Amino acid sequence: MRGVVFSGPERPLELAELELAPPRPGEVLVRIAAAGVCRSDLHSRQGDWPRRTPLVMGHEGAGTVIEVGAEVSGLAPGDHVVLSWQPACGRCRPCLLGLPQRCQLMASLVAPQGVLYDGTSRLSRRGETVYHYSGVSSFAEEAVVPATGAIAVPADVPLSSAALIGCCVSTGVGAVLWTARVEEGATVAVVGCGAVGLSAVEGAVLASAARIIAIDPLEQKLQLARELGATDALAARSTEAVGQVRELTRGGADYVFDCIGLSETVSDSIRMLAVGGTAVLVGLPAVGQEAHFSPLEVGESERRIVGSYYGSCRPAVHFPYLAELYLQGRLRIDQLVTRRRPLEEAEAALDDLERGREIKTVLEPGAARRA
Ligand SMILES: [Zn+2]
Ligand SMILES: [Zn+2]
Repeated sequence: MRGVVFSGPERPLELAELELAPPRPGEVLVRIAAAGVCRSDLHSRQGDWPRRTPLVMGHEGAGTVIEVGAEVSGLAPGDHVVLSWQPACGRCRPCLLGLPQRCQLMASLVAPQGVLYDGTSRLSRRGETVYHYSGVSSFAEEAVVPATGAIAVPADVPLSSAALIGCCVSTGVGAVLWTARVEEGATVAVVGCGAVGLSAVEGAVLASAARIIAIDPLEQKLQLARELGATDALAARSTEAVGQVRELTRGGADYVFDCIGLSETVSDSIRMLAVGGTAVLVGLPAVGQEAHFSPLEVGESERRIVGSYYGSCRPAVHFPYLAELYLQGRLRIDQLVTRRRPLEEAEAALDDLERGREIKTVLEPGAARRA
């Protein structure tokens, strides 16, 4: 099978023929139908987040189960699944507490080592080990993943939209519903209207927020934000938007979601807050970046700064829930997919994202073969 191999920040991506070993106990083999290109892939390509290489890229994807390993229950060949990049080990304390996004084995073994839970990789190239990316590696025709990272969803959800449930939709909607637990009538500002920010806008609609202020310098993104339910759209960078948000909300927003994760967007998000407001850090910066804020202002106004990882979602419960909302027309995902490309064009898709040309490109491994 073929996959997109990343060998280091200065090296071009390569679509290579790879060997994929069959699933071991607790694992499943999935034929990838769609893989979303996400900002985290850009961070990886730029070397912002060190990873063991060579690896097969991609952490957002959906497809069809082809084979299940021993000790797997609840999944069968033919099932449509959304892949999760935080597959619960099911044994560590956070997993037992129902917080798989904090899984200790993911953080200490699977993600940094580029392996699956038994400490080895199923991927190789002419006998040389190739590593997994966060237990997913979806920029490929097939993937072997932990069964806890393959969540069955109804077959009537198109797989290109289902793929987005695996990262940007859960991250954005979840930040609002499950990290911040925004209450009805609250005022919300969203900094950055890429696929995650737009999903946060949708989350705020689901939470019945009174006012949803979308902030992005690009008009094309704001237009989509309005279509998805933003009540106000500010064509500005975060620093320019601080005063406008404070004015529109008469003193500051109850919740601000920073979906960018730069030093200045973090600081500006905190400055946009009302007394008692909560800044939710959703977008992830490069390793080593820091942000500044006034502890006096945060302290005396009882503002809160909260981190959100994977929207605090529990994939086994929340992926099927988000799929259900999609089928009912209460969550729109198709609109986020602005481009489809074959695997051969992974590099170009990342360039597009870097330059803000597309909201979400979906790679379709089967596309070239069908053509
Ligand atoms: Zn992602
Ligand atoms: Zn765990």
